[in-house]
Amino acid sequence: MFQRTQNDIIKMEKLAQARSDFLGYVSHELRTPIFTIQGYLETLLNGAIDDPKVNITFLKKAMLHSENLNNLLNDLIDISMIESGLMSLSFRYFNLNNFLQEIVEEINQDGIKDNLELILVEFNSEIEVYGDKDKLKQVMINLISNAIKYTNEGSIKVSIMEKNKNVTVKVQDTGIGINEDEQSRIFERFYRTQRERESTVPGTGLGLSIVKHILEAHNSQIYVKSELSKGTEFSFKLKALNLS
Ligand code: ADP
Repeated sequence: MFQRTQNDIIKMEKLAQARSDFLGYVSHELRTPIFTIQGYLETLLNGAIDDPKVNITFLKKAMLHSENLNNLLNDLIDISMIESGLMSLSFRYFNLNNFLQEIVEEINQDGIKDNLELILVEFNSEIEVYGDKDKLKQVMINLISNAIKYTNEGSIKVSIMEKNKNVTVKVQDTGIGINEDEQSRIFERFYRTQRERESTVPGTGLGLSIVKHILEAHNSQIYVKSELSKGTEFSFKLKALNLS
């Protein structure tokens, strides 16, 4: 009895600590874009608005940071829905080829960097996978957007591999890679590698943590293989039908 109470107290203290760490991170992450936007607007109001050399640039920068703020809020809403158990999933079988083709076409239509190509490697078009299509789309968009963001030139390949009653979906890039020491940490919420923390590449450090949660809700896992300056491969398994 005493032992149980002790354990409960330790658990509650850990939860309180996690909550306060989370709030600390969130307020810090929100403050940065808000201060930056305020800075640009103040400078414009103090006279820069009449300086044609900087006025448009400052407005564009304020706009960019407000977009970052919006992305951060959307990611935070997703994370809190997932963690509070409010994320409702609707599972069914759907055609994998159509699903991946639509995503790849959508991203290609929006346009990607000039020296980069995004391709879907052809595969058995009959395969059906089991899962929540919308949430899995979010997984694929996060993985492909990261691949684009962290690759300057080369290719991003989306492919699948059949094994037993599963398929493995892979997103491979020829980008900057991830340091071995940091590979296990990139799925933590708000974690950005040291390189990204010091760079101007926008990001919230929440994308991969959302990916991990969604796949866990599918009884699946996300795997990473990466080599610095060579590229990165993310993969995950799904239950499938109509395999070759
Ligand atoms: P972010 O918003 O920073 O992209 P993520 O959670 O999506 O956050 O990713 C966490 C970190 O993992 C990134 O900051 C980046 O350092 C690293 N990362 C993710 N995907 C890739 C990739 N394809 N290539 C290289 N680094 C990556």
